[in-house]
Amino acid sequence: MNFKDYIRVIPDFPQPGIVFKDITTLLKDGPAYRAAIDALKEKVAGMQIDVIAGPEARGFVIGAPLALALGVGFVPIRKSGKLPGETIEAAYDLEYGKDRLAMHKDAIQPGQKVLIADDLLATGGTIATTMNLVRQLGGEIVGAAFLIELSYLNGRDKLDGLNVVSLMNY
Ligand code: 5GP
Repeated sequence: MNFKDYIRVIPDFPQPGIVFKDITTLLKDGPAYRAAIDALKEKVAGMQIDVIAGPEARGFVIGAPLALALGVGFVPIRKSGKLPGETIEAAYDLEYGKDRLAMHKDAIQPGQKVLIADDLLATGGTIATTMNLVRQLGGEIVGAAFLIELSYLNGRDKLDGLNVVSLMNY
């Protein structure tokens, strides 16, 4: 399956100069969504994974079904102020804008092997912040999985040689 056929490219969203890759056109197609999760599952098959961590909101729609397919747990990483329990937080920059991410303090046990999942790797800011949170809790990051990687933004360079897998490259 050519997954790019299911991605809608929208210029100048959410601001001029950003060429947005809309994944909702893939998600709404049952066979394409399933095939994408299956393909990611195959790409991470060699990794030892205890738990998947994914940042809201699009990290949930990739990370949670992948966790289910692998039979491992899922840990949500949320914007500041959304999680009810005790949290740790870190500030981060986006391709557009700034925000804070939070994670429950007891979400990951020291030594657990963590795969990070999100829809798209752009500048790498979101994933670098996610890695920071996971490491603060003592988690060992074994890799990161994305539907899409925007290679021209060099996000990988921010990720300390992390094992990155993706289904589509732009
Ligand atoms: P980064 O932190 O790597 O610069 O940006 C990645 C984050 O921003 C991801 O959580 C992703 O959901 C969102 N993002 C940035 N650009 C795009 C885009 O073109 N399409 C989609 N679907 N998400 C994007």
